[in-house]
Parts: sequence; structure tokens; C-alpha cells
Amino acid sequence: MGIDWSVVEAETIAQLQAMIGFDTTNPPGNELPLAQHIAGALELAGIETRLLIPAPERAAVVARLKGDGSKRGVMLLAHMDVVGVERDKWSCDPFSGVVRDGYLYGRGAIDDKGMLAANLMAMLTLKREVVDRGITLSRDIVFLATADEETGGAFGMRWLVDNHRDLLDVEFAINEGGRTRVIEGGRRYLAIQTAEKISHMVTVTARGPAGHAAIPLEDNAIFRLGRALARLGDYREPVTLTETTRRFFELLSRMWPADEEARAMADLVSRDSAASERGAEILSRIPVFNAVIRNGISATTITGGVAGNVIPAEASAVLNVRTIPGNSIDDVMDRLRACVPDPGISFAVAAHSDEAPASDPDSAMFKAIADAAIELDPVMTVVPYLSTGGTDSAHLRRIGINSYGILPFPMEQPDEERMHGHDERVPVASLHFGTRLIFESIRRVSSA
Ligand SMILES: [Zn+2]
Repeated sequence: MGIDWSVVEAETIAQLQAMIGFDTTNPPGNELPLAQHIAGALELAGIETRLLIPAPERAAVVARLKGDGSKRGVMLLAHMDVVGVERDKWSCDPFSGVVRDGYLYGRGAIDDKGMLAANLMAMLTLKREVVDRGITLSRDIVFLATADEETGGAFGMRWLVDNHRDLLDVEFAINEGGRTRVIEGGRRYLAIQTAEKISHMVTVTARGPAGHAAIPLEDNAIFRLGRALARLGDYREPVTLTETTRRFFELLSRMWPADEEARAMADLVSRDSAASERGAEILSRIPVFNAVIRNGISATTITGGVAGNVIPAEASAVLNVRTIPGNSIDDVMDRLRACVPDPGISFAVAAHSDEAPASDPDSAMFKAIADAAIELDPVMTVVPYLSTGGTDSAHLRRIGINSYGILPFPMEQPDEERMHGHDERVPVASLHFGTRLIFESIRRVSSA
């Protein structure tokens, strides 16, 4: 196929800049004007497109390239809303999409307008360079842009699942949620998210006698809460490996540049339990790895007290507990209670999410992404990945769609950490890599 990628690249940059220019800070979101812009570009290319309006000023765009129906469809998913900005902390206008020193800056450049632009360009390129050249697709290709991902999806994916299930009749989806990480020495790996941790809110409440602050009381609820939190802060859940994390560490151990960590990864997944424990101990010191080998417990808010001279009867804290798929929150609660054997302390689950099955790491879609990545970058290692953060993919997995999270833009960790932060930016070369990765993955999985 003689695709002139320089033309596609110029259009990708223009599209991402235009998308960043629509302020879709959620709340309130206001995704409708951006949705109209995207729908316009798809329709102009002759692609069947629908604009759905879940609520005033909110929207979803669904477009479809028809295949011959011999296989079930594949979806390209991205969300249109972004998180807010602290303008004075940015070195440029967060809604202008300025290109500087090889980076494109703007709120959403990584999360998730970068992928939205890459998905749109993959879709347009498939239409122009595949369908319009008379090549038959074996699957429908569905483009979906959603609203309201950043605040839970009531006007986004949840609404679509509840009201337009028929539009989600696909076998596979590609979404955000993975990583294309550039590490020490320029080595690279693509972590394809096949599962995610499940988020729960747990309250810890301390009770004690109320009274005048002039008479100190030993059972003061705030001190009691403090003692409980100190114990919880030192507590670690047991190591739990899943099929996804076993493969993740096994494959990563073969390319990891730091020797001690590489050995720890291999030890962790070995059959030798002493070695496995040793490996876990070393990896537990690295927060991002620690978070994928055990249920995570983070204290996030604390409440208590009414006045500076009053001992309150109650004080409480919220723990965000993220469980590994297959681990029950009830079992975690039992262990938390055992960790704090104080009758004045109680634990309760205030909110919890449902499990979603892991997506198949041996599917045609996973293989297509892996093959495309290695064709574009022969030294890339591809691994399945359990993400610690949540995405819309959980909704899709629960209705039987194998969903794969990729952040298709090769980045070093510090750049990646700018998402939701200040001066969010995507390397321009990585944006183009990601567009090609998505295009090639879809072309492979839908070739007749
Ligand atoms: Zn996102």
C-alpha cells in the first residue's frame, strides 16, 4: 500500500490541535461542539456516522466502516472530555495545541485527545486507502468517541451500554489504558492493558468519649484513628499474581535494563517459592510494580472534629482500596479488621465496583497489535498488563467485549506523568507512531 504518511501526519497534527481547541473540561464536559467537528470530518470522507445526544451539550459519535460480515466488528474508542487545568501553572495556553521542540502541548494531548485524533486518522486512512481502493474488510470497524469518561461515564459509556447496546456489538475494542514506555537506554515496551484493578472506598471510623478538651481522654477518637491509620500505613496485602501479571513480569524480565530488578521479575514468577518471595520483596520497593502485585490501600481523606476545644465522639478516614481481579473485597476487609484489633474502630465499604473479566491475551486482536508494534519498531517488547487505574474498558469487558488498552505513544515516564498535570504534551513523533500502530493493528485484524 503506497500511503503517503507525511500527508496523514500533517492532518493528524491539525486534527489534534483542533480537538484541543474545543474546551471539553469535565465538568461540565460540553463535548457536543467537538462531537460535531468529528462527525463532520467522518461524513466528509463518506463514512456512515451518527451523533447521539445523551444530555444537553453532551454527545457521542459513532461511525462505521462496513466489512463483509464474515467476522464480528472491532471498535476504536476514545473519550472527548478532559480534566481541568490550573492555567497559571502552564507555560502555554492549554487549549491552543502549540507545537514546540518536537512536542504538541495541550490539555488532552495524551489523555485522551491524542488517541481520539489517532483513531480518527486511522479511520479516515482505512476509508481512503483500503475501502476506497476496493479492498474488502472482514469486520465492521466502529469508531466511537464518548463524553464523560473523567467523571464516571453516566453521560458516556454507561449511557451507551444502557441505551445503545446494539451499537456495541463488536468482538474487540481498542481503548486507552495501556503504556508504550521508553525506559533506560532507550529500550521500549508496549503494555497492552487486558485487565484493571477494581476500586473500592472503605471508611475507617474511630469512636470515643466526647468531652471538653481541657480534660484529656485516652480514648480520644482522633488519637484512636491516628493509631489505626499508623498500623494500616505499615500493612501490606499479600502478593497475588494473575495470569496477566505473571506474563507481564516474565516477558519484562527478559528486556529490563536494571539487573537486580530483571532478576527479581524472573524470580517472582518462578516456581521456587523462596525465590518468588525474594523477587516480590525487591519489586515491592518500586511503587508502580508494588501496585500491580498486591491489593493497594491508599488513605485519601480524613474527617473529624467540630471545634478547637472539643474532643469529638467520632473521626474517620477514607481508604481507596484497589483489588486485583479475583480478590474479594470482603476478604480484604477481614484482614484490615485483623490488622487493627481495636473495638473502637470500625470498617465499612462505602462504595465498590464490580469485577470485569480479563481480555484474552491470545486473541487475534492482541496478536494484531503486537505484530503491528514489532513491525513498526523491531525492538519493541509487547506484554499484557493489569492497570491500576480504571477505564471505560471495564464496561465493555462486562458485556463480553475483549477490550485492549493501549497508550500508543512511546513516552518516558516523566512525560506520561503530565497527563492530568501541567504542560501535558505528546512527542510529535510518538503521535505519528501511535496513529500508524492503530491503523496497522486494525488493518491486520480486519483483513479478509
Ligand atoms: Zn482518559
